[in-house]
Amino acid sequence: MANNESNDTSTQNSKFLQLNSSIQILNESISIQMPQFRQKVLKTVHSKDAVRRKQIACHIYINDLESVPGYKALKKQICRICICEEETSKFIAPCKCKGTAEFVHQECLKMWILEQYGVNKIYNDELYCEVCNHKFEFDVDFNDRFDIKQFQRIKKRTKLCWLIQIFFIILFIFGSIEIALGFGINSLATVAIIVVFGLITISLTIYLIFNFSSAHTIQMIENWNFQNYKPKSSASLPKKNTKKITNQFIRVNQIYFT
Ligand SMILES: [Zn+2]
Ligand SMILES: [Zn+2]
Repeated sequence: MANNESNDTSTQNSKFLQLNSSIQILNESISIQMPQFRQKVLKTVHSKDAVRRKQIACHIYINDLESVPGYKALKKQICRICICEEETSKFIAPCKCKGTAEFVHQECLKMWILEQYGVNKIYNDELYCEVCNHKFEFDVDFNDRFDIKQFQRIKKRTKLCWLIQIFFIILFIFGSIEIALGFGINSLATVAIIVVFGLITISLTIYLIFNFSSAHTIQMIENWNFQNYKPKSSASLPKKNTKKITNQFIRVNQIYFT
């Protein structure tokens, strides 16, 4: 579909409205009036959650766009954080703020929240706009992920502890085999020693596996999506929202006349 339509230059401008609809469309029909697509950037923000003692990570997806002189955003949307007109990520209007502070890139807002507050306020659903005090409505998932790359971050002291535990596990296994081979398993005393060694080995192994996996587990913030601000149709409705007031009037009028 993109191939056929890219030849039709007369309606190019209107077709470019949906910047995020396809990377192919942008590459195949580059216009002078539009920012040129360069690459998609994935940043992973890591932070430590001091309250829950967990390593947290969040992917930030940014379309890196090269600005073209003279380009004006079609919807006049400007991100209030990066002051950028290009749709490097989805434009949202998450609070009551208007004018130049109305829109923000979703990924810019995520970065700002993580830098400013860390993770705790996301957990507790306590994110507010600093200007208008409106509570941000959002969906988010926290999922544990095993990440072997965390091995580099683990302290040498912890790694040394693991090595000592592995040494003792091997020592108890070979000790049990040696006792069994040397004294036989007919004597009650040797059986008792082997059982004790076996229990210590199992406990140490479970403890080691638990520590190893928890040290390599990071909690990912996933599917984090903000909702646009929608005024509630109540008595405290702002004057500017005429659409819902009009709907209410129609309903009231119908009741009044019947
Ligand atoms: Zn931005
Ligand atoms: Zn606001």
